[in-house]
Amino acid sequence: MRKVTKVAVIGGGASGMCAAIELMTHIADKSSVEVTVLEKMTRVGKKLLVTGNGRCNITNMNAVNSGYRGDVEFAKTALSRFTPESNIEFFNSLGLYTRTENEGRVYPLSNQASSVLDALRFECERLGVKFICDYRAVHLKEAVTAFSRKIVVNNRDRFDYVIVAAGGKAAKIHGTDGDSYELLKMLGHSVTPVAPALVSLNCSDFTKALKGIRSVCGVNLIIDGKTEYKNYGEIQFTDYGLSGIPIMQLSRFVSMSPSDNIQIHLDLAPDFSKEELRLYLLSRREKDTGLCENMLSGIINKQLCITIMKECGIAVNGRVNALSDEKINSLCERLKCWSIKVKNSRSFDFAQVTAGGVKCSEFDPETMESKFVSGVFCCGEALDVDGDCGGYNLQWAWSSGRTAGRSIAERINADNAQNK
Ligand SMILES: Cc1cc2nc3c(=O)[nH]c(=O)nc-3n(C[C@H](O)[C@H](O)[C@H](O)COP(=O)(O)OP(=O)(O)OC[C@H]3O[C@@H](n4cnc5c(N)ncnc54)[C@H](O)[C@@H]3O)c2cc1C
Repeated sequence: MRKVTKVAVIGGGASGMCAAIELMTHIADKSSVEVTVLEKMTRVGKKLLVTGNGRCNITNMNAVNSGYRGDVEFAKTALSRFTPESNIEFFNSLGLYTRTENEGRVYPLSNQASSVLDALRFECERLGVKFICDYRAVHLKEAVTAFSRKIVVNNRDRFDYVIVAAGGKAAKIHGTDGDSYELLKMLGHSVTPVAPALVSLNCSDFTKALKGIRSVCGVNLIIDGKTEYKNYGEIQFTDYGLSGIPIMQLSRFVSMSPSDNIQIHLDLAPDFSKEELRLYLLSRREKDTGLCENMLSGIINKQLCITIMKECGIAVNGRVNALSDEKINSLCERLKCWSIKVKNSRSFDFAQVTAGGVKCSEFDPETMESKFVSGVFCCGEALDVDGDCGGYNLQWAWSSGRTAGRSIAERINADNAQNK
């Protein structure tokens, strides 16, 4: 009887669908393989629809040697095999074209995340990949007899190969709450500490009056008195603390840190050196420009200015020409370095990705196969690799998923050739 090799992909998200396509595309005899995507949610790829604010930041042209944390060395193999250019070609071959925007961010020409999901879904269907939705994998084991070796999902469904692509722990509303970790632990794998990443920060004693304000700032993260991370860009003030891309970028360092001595230092006038800012303030005083509350309205948000002035003990309805040198200096200092105490990062529910995950050193970076159980593979956010904002995480999902899919295809092709 003709052998059909059965492959399960646990998780119909970015990396899982990509792995299934890569696998089926590179199988010489497609009728010799059955690929089934087992998806917990009612539909595959739900998370993809919300990526990039509904536009899906598919990849980043700089995402090969920079922009990653966790086990970066492990990630380099897949990232340099399936580069951003290679993944763009992959999508082009599915009829999806892209545009590169600032800082190397790549989006679909349609500007719609749904077109990325459609491209993956339709290609899976065209290649005969089966989807089983509302299927939550909760158990994984290896079953070895004298005649066969299978990977068994949920003590019932038997496969020759299994790819664990069930994501991390971030944004559980989209199906991901850490099942990958539990499944792989059942096979003896370990998981490094996990924490929310690309998430906003809760800050102490935060003035709610600033809610909704956006301001371009220099941003320094200070942990136990040491600068851990520097960034620049538009931050958003919220009712609980700080958000915006520069804040999200540094959030993993906050959530991974055991310290409770964490501050964000904001430079509210990043286009001015401290001396230039001091001269600007002195010139405003000299010209006697009216009330203090309007003194800085030409360069920063008025409400922000009022908050900072109050912190410096300046009466906002006092006159600018009455400000002492001492008050001008203290205003200048605070505008260039406004220290905000950070309580913690927001929870996994609000995070875009997971820092930490399944220990990469227990997998082969060339294939994504487990070193403990042959035939079991892992890809995507489940592994201890996380990227910056800007397309880096999907790039990792595509590259690691394609590596796993291609490896299994090569293995099956070799087996088929041998058994001819
Ligand atoms: C709001 C938001 C915006 C984002 N925007 C971007 C962006 O623009 N660019 C970017 O690069 N990254 C972005 N990301 C991150 C990116 O979406 C993820 O890193 C990426 O989707 C991870 O791919 P994955 O395949 O590993 O996991 P996922 O895409 O999360 O897929 C995992 C799948 O597994 C399923 N699953 C989970 N457990 C089980 C189980 N036990 N059994 C069966 N199925 C299971 C889940 O339902 C899910 O469908 C964003 C994330 C969020 C939350």
